[in-house]
Amino acid sequence: MKVSKLSSNPTASMPDPSPPLHTGRDSVSQRSPIAADCQAPEAVRGGAEARRFPFPSLPSISLSGRRGHGRRAGGGGGGGGSGRAAVAAMGGPGGLRQARRLCHWGPLVALAVVAVCSATAMADAALWYWPLDTAGGSVNFVVLLNWTVMILYNYFSAMFVGPGYVPLGWTPENSQDCMYLQYCKVCQSYKAPRSHHCRKCNRCVMKMDHHCPWINNCCGYQNHASFTLFLFLAPLGCIHASFIFIMTMYTQLYNRISFGWSSVKIDMSAAKRDPRTIIPFGLSAFAASLFALGLALGTTIAVGMLFIIQMKVILTNKTSIESWIEEKAKDRIQYYQTGETFIFPYDTGSKWKNFKQVFTWSGIPEGDGLDWPVRDGCHQYSLTIEQLKQKADKRVRSVRYRAIEDYSGVCCPVTKGVKTFFTTPCTEEPRIALSKGDLILATRGLKHWMYGEKILDSAADGGIRERGWFPRKCVEKCQYDSETDQPVDGEKKNR
Ligand SMILES: [Zn+2]
Ligand SMILES: [Zn+2]
Repeated sequence: MKVSKLSSNPTASMPDPSPPLHTGRDSVSQRSPIAADCQAPEAVRGGAEARRFPFPSLPSISLSGRRGHGRRAGGGGGGGGSGRAAVAAMGGPGGLRQARRLCHWGPLVALAVVAVCSATAMADAALWYWPLDTAGGSVNFVVLLNWTVMILYNYFSAMFVGPGYVPLGWTPENSQDCMYLQYCKVCQSYKAPRSHHCRKCNRCVMKMDHHCPWINNCCGYQNHASFTLFLFLAPLGCIHASFIFIMTMYTQLYNRISFGWSSVKIDMSAAKRDPRTIIPFGLSAFAASLFALGLALGTTIAVGMLFIIQMKVILTNKTSIESWIEEKAKDRIQYYQTGETFIFPYDTGSKWKNFKQVFTWSGIPEGDGLDWPVRDGCHQYSLTIEQLKQKADKRVRSVRYRAIEDYSGVCCPVTKGVKTFFTTPCTEEPRIALSKGDLILATRGLKHWMYGEKILDSAADGGIRERGWFPRKCVEKCQYDSETDQPVDGEKKNR
């Protein structure tokens, strides 16, 4: 599959995927939210043309101008100006803020696991299983130490280098392109393709995959490689450590079972290897090894699975969020029967090329994190346009509710009924406090809980959106709202 890096004529490589909606679907096209939302130049043309979904045939001039800018001309080297600005913005002198990333349960637990496993493995090896004065023992010890150093190096890189943020106030070079992009009120910038605003980081993150509580940072454009390397090395280190734990416990226990628990002094196998062993393998050492073994095996399985997921993300060049967008695109197209085909634009078609976008010898990923090579038939904004369509669609399919009871925003409210208390959604997503009379646009729900966005007084909200969960019991559906004639089953049951 060819990747069009510099498409000289995007109109040619951008076939309009949406045939004119025929009259049978007119009710849908009237409801079609984008048409009303985004007054694109072509939309003012009359007749059949006007019924087309406005986006894909929009001015293509700007697109070629943008791709032709040659930011990537220098290859996978360093990235463009705005990329560097982003690096500066995040790597700047905010040392204190960076250090604060450590003060969170995720890094504390992760570092504790690394510390317990490596320290126990090194102690077990040096004291009992494979003493340092043998050649094999020394090599083993150096390898164990090496795992720890490499794991910590990649872990801290992922945490402190961070994912890379879209520069504050960023706009595309061609102002016409703004119509294809969502605007982030918090960052006061347009959301570059593949970027998403992270509520935890409070910034728009380049090629955001997810916010990882274990590194207390997002996984995205800049740290995708180090994060994945960490996920690769941690299980390998854990497997090595597990081997040491098992062998130490086996050899030591074997001797005790053979010669009795109190006969440490006639521990023949240990004596053969290291006659100077002075610390007996006692019950506490056994307990520590067993505990560390549990941690190491658990980490191997859990982190190994995360590694497989991340490799899939890298080889398909499709982040977890983008997989979700693609799924919703298929949903949307099926719902409105528009006959479009959605092609995910960033998968180059070659796993090796996708891999090289993330892993480079210089350690700096290809490109600048703001514009991306796309495959034939797609253009720079194929995905952002789909996102705009979905956003507008969600607005049409969401249902308006009004709060009839106050709700403080606690996870497990005691005054809202037993079922509400016990069925609180198991997610880190926030809850929103409600006061009687508040209006909420609900987008999805469970039996006793709903998720939605508070409709704020635009003068007072200052651009902050309040989205989250609230008990279904505290709200009632608004009767007067014209949008409520939408089927309620449009609302997604959980996800
Ligand atoms: Zn933002
Ligand atoms: Zn984040």
